[in-house]
Parts: sequence; C-alpha cells; structure tokens
Amino acid sequence: MPGFSEYPRVLRGTSVIFVWLQQPAFVVNLCTAMKFPAEPYNESGIFVDQLSVTYEVNGGQTIRALDRASIEIRPAEFIGIFGESGSGKSTLAATFVRLLPQNARYEHGSIQFRGRNLLAIPESELRRIRGAKIALIPQDPALALNPVITVGDQIAEVLRAHVRMPAKERRARVEELLVEVGFDQSQRIYSAYPHQLSGGQRQRIVIAQAMACRPAVVIADEPTSKLDASLQAEILALMREISRRHRAAFVLISHNPAVLAGSVDRIVVMYAGRIVEEGRTEDIFRRPLHPYTQALLRLTSRYLPATRPRIRFQAIDGEPPDLTARGVGCPFAARCPERMQVCTERDVYETTPHPFQRVSCFKYGN
Ligand code: ATP
Ligand code: MG
Repeated sequence: MPGFSEYPRVLRGTSVIFVWLQQPAFVVNLCTAMKFPAEPYNESGIFVDQLSVTYEVNGGQTIRALDRASIEIRPAEFIGIFGESGSGKSTLAATFVRLLPQNARYEHGSIQFRGRNLLAIPESELRRIRGAKIALIPQDPALALNPVITVGDQIAEVLRAHVRMPAKERRARVEELLVEVGFDQSQRIYSAYPHQLSGGQRQRIVIAQAMACRPAVVIADEPTSKLDASLQAEILALMREISRRHRAAFVLISHNPAVLAGSVDRIVVMYAGRIVEEGRTEDIFRRPLHPYTQALLRLTSRYLPATRPRIRFQAIDGEPPDLTARGVGCPFAARCPERMQVCTERDVYETTPHPFQRVSCFKYGN
C-alpha cells in the first residue's frame, strides 16, 4: 500500500476514505473498467474464520489484538460489535479491508468474501473490493473529509475511482446520493465545503461516500460517537433504512449498548481479541450469558436509552487483560466474579446453550 503513514489514525476508524483519496497513484489504479451499476444489489456476506492478529511493539513485545475470532456477516443484516476499550473492535474492522498498520501481522485465519480469502488475494484485486464492495464509515467525519474539496466532489471521487461513467452522469449520481442521505437541496450541498456543514450533515456525507458504489458490506466504526443523542438516532435510522433499501450488510461498532439495542439484529461481544458471546440483540439484552457481557450491561444500563455520546468501559472490576502474555485459560478469569478453578486451568471453547446464542464460558459446559 503506497505511503500509508497515517495508519494508526486509519486503525482508529477515522479518515479511511480521506487517506485513500490522498493516494493519487492508488486512485489512478482504481480507475478500472467497471460499468456502473455492475451489481446494483449485493447478496454477499463475509466470513471471518479463526482470525488472529498481533501487533509488534517497542522492545519486541507482541500484542495479541485478535485471538481466533470468528464471525459471519450475513447479507443485508445489521450487526453490532460491542466490547470495552482495547478489546479489538477496530482491529477487526480494519481487517475486513486489510487496512492494518505495518506493525500488524495476520497470524492465523481467513476472511472469505465471494469465494475469495481477502487475506490472500493480491493488493490489486483488493483495491477493487475496498471502498466499492466493502466500505468503511469512519468515526470522525471531520477527519474523514478533505477540508479544501467540496463534499460533492469528494463523493464523486469515490465513484471515479471505481466506476467508469461520464462526468455528467457522475454528478447526477452524487446528487441522487445526497438526496438519499437526507439533503433536500442536493445541488447546493454538492458545492459546500465540509466546514460549512454541521456534524450531522458531515456524517451524512461520509455515509453517501461509503454507499456510492453500493457496497455489499459497510463497516461503521463508532459512526455516531461524536453526535448528540437525537442526531445519533437520526443517523442510525438513516443507516438502517439504507441497509434495507440496498440490501447492504452493516457492521456497527459501538461502545454504547443503547445505540446497539435500538438498531442491530445481532450482537457480537469482544473481550481480549476474542468473540466471547454472540446472539440476537433481544437475547443478549434479556439473557446475557457471559459474565463479561453481564458486567458490561450492568455497568451501562444506567445510560439506556442513548443519552451519552460515548462511554468508556474501563470500570469493570480488575485490570484489563495483558494482551502481551497469552496464558492458558479464559482471558476474563482474573476479573470474573464467577471464576471456577477450571477457568485458569484449561482453554475455554465455544458452546451454544441456546439455539441463537454462542458463548465461551465454562459455566455452560466445555
Ligand atoms: P476502543 O474501544 O478504544 O476503540 P478497540 O476495541 O477498538 O478499542 P483496538 O483499537 O482494536 O481496540 O485495539 C486492540 C488492542 O491492540 C489494544 O490493546 C490496542 O492497544 C492494541 N493496538 C491497536 N492498534 C495498535 C497499533 N497500531 N500498535 C500496537 N498496538 C495496537
Ligand atoms: Mg476502536
């Protein structure tokens, strides 16, 4: 990947599109001969299989950010990823488009998309997928958008990179996208610069950018965390509506259970780089199985419904896990109020105590 000096920022889920568009060679390479709309509605999910990712840090230490994480994103579904700070959510998000920083290593596993392993395909093939078939909505629209280019041209840039079409048609398509994300006066908005728009309007622009090529999967890393509660609800409703209309799968990463409760169909809970629980949203809220999920929800239940833009979860008793040392046993054992002897003696595997809920905890057999 040329000149990815901004990797850490990309990893935090910000500025992905902006950074891509800052790579002229990259954009030129992307001008492939796709006739738009090649695939107006997509029916592809993604399957992440047993993925492990580590980061090399100073002194030769290794941080295990993802530890055999498996997750299936089904076509057209709205799925949430939930977990305390440092649990690996953004790392997982970045792997979907292979946008990890240079100190990251894929240690194990695969990401299957349309019969291909995204971790094994050449970069040239990945470029045709990234932004077009799998898009990212970054956390901070202020960083994601280029301040000196009109927002219309920034959306057009994404189309130009992936789809060959006359300029006039492209302009019309951008205006259509602007209407789709809720702007009445699309011509006026086309010519606006990011600083002339409100935070909520800028977030709509990055959604339009992400949707420009009608992707099959959209990854949104904390997309509403900078917005107040009412705007947050509007943007979530918009994403939900777009997902339904275009049959695009959305992966919504959030710290805020209220955001997930009102919008996603399924929730994946992460701890120490692992998927420790997964289930339908109503089941996770009504009957969380893992002691970690229970602790997170207990801790944050007072924030329901969404009244806080962002909550950090460092408040569960005990220290966050040391990701540089991978011992045997359940990674949550040290903090778990229900710890048993076996929890530190053997590795824990996943079980399915209820038909639509999987959990990695000895309480449910192993
Ligand atoms: P947050 O909720 O704070 O955004 P997260 O769940 O998204 O956290 P990640 O950002 O994926 O977590 O980080 C997972 C682990 O990997 C953390 O321990 C983090 O410190 C570490 N990490 C993330 N990026 C890097 C990097 N570029 N180099 C080294 N370690 C990193
Ligand atoms: Mg993150």
